[in-house]
Amino acid sequence: MTENSFFNNDYESSRDHFRNQLSSIAKIRQDAYLDTYYIGDREDDNSVDILASDASSRKTLLTITAGEHGIEGYTGSALLSMFIENFLPHLNPETTGLRLVHSVNPWGMRHCRRVTENNVDMNRNYLLDFSQLRDRADNEYEKHKSLFNPEAPIQNLNKQNSFLLSYLQKNLTEKELERLKNTPGGQYKYPQGVFYGGSVMEETTRQLADRYKEWAESYDHIVHIDLHTGGGPMNELTMIFMDGDSRSASELQKSLGRKNVSKTNNEDVSGDSVEFLQKMIQTVYPEKRSVFALFEFGTIEESTDGYLFCAKAMINENQLHFEGARFSEDEMSVRNDFTRLFNPADKTWQSSIFKEAEKGFRSLLKSENLI
Ligand SMILES: [Zn+2]
Repeated sequence: MTENSFFNNDYESSRDHFRNQLSSIAKIRQDAYLDTYYIGDREDDNSVDILASDASSRKTLLTITAGEHGIEGYTGSALLSMFIENFLPHLNPETTGLRLVHSVNPWGMRHCRRVTENNVDMNRNYLLDFSQLRDRADNEYEKHKSLFNPEAPIQNLNKQNSFLLSYLQKNLTEKELERLKNTPGGQYKYPQGVFYGGSVMEETTRQLADRYKEWAESYDHIVHIDLHTGGGPMNELTMIFMDGDSRSASELQKSLGRKNVSKTNNEDVSGDSVEFLQKMIQTVYPEKRSVFALFEFGTIEESTDGYLFCAKAMINENQLHFEGARFSEDEMSVRNDFTRLFNPADKTWQSSIFKEAEKGFRSLLKSENLI
């Protein structure tokens, strides 16, 4: 198959394609099964689907999750298919168990938003205790809150964009703009604002965390990859490892043979999912070895223009969701920008990230002795 045939542009086709891969996995692993659970009302038909298989001698569990940020799940789903075709046959079914998770945030994927039905960014929602954060937004957010909190419909997108760009350039430093693109801090005060982390654990957050603990229980070695799009340099894979990994960024670069590898520096970020899951595993099962990584596939260049485009796309999409737009051309244009940022249709982009993903999967699986 060519990489372009892995991409589907609606939630149900993408999910069908994923579910149908059970038959090819079952040829290699007889115990393979599809586990499906629903988020929200059953009739809304928003499901998290997991292709699962357990090893007879349970040594390593490999988990790959996609679509935590809804719309990013289209690329995630394509990369899961590529993984099933190119890597799964090389894993040892006797020692390596699998959980491949399609669309962790199915409502967001179906509606092409990053967030859940409650406007919550799941990657800021992995918290056991919200009491410290409730009603908190950082100073930057408070200072510019009129930008991030929608108050009225989009009247004239061209005018709004010129205002946004000049405001952002005048009032935010390059570093602040970069953070908005790559590591926005999250806020817990404005439920209709951008980067909202919620006030309780979302249903889908809780479900995944609970299941994860069960999946890991009987394995000694846990390897987790969470697939995202939008952050980091354009057309490249950035592999991000957590605080819980004792290796430095340069040690990781060396052992993976890749340059674009970093460690999280999440002092100002709460509720990060990969960090939460790794800490949970390290706390509940201190004897297990765990390697947790977030794979970011960059869509927009790392430059002032790229940062401004990203901020504009996020702010406008959120405003469109809550307040709508006066003109349908403006609505279309906002949706196009958002798609370009998180689910580009560009074939060159799709090809380059497939190559990057191949290299990224291979380097991590090799360094963990799985292939
Ligand atoms: Zn993401």
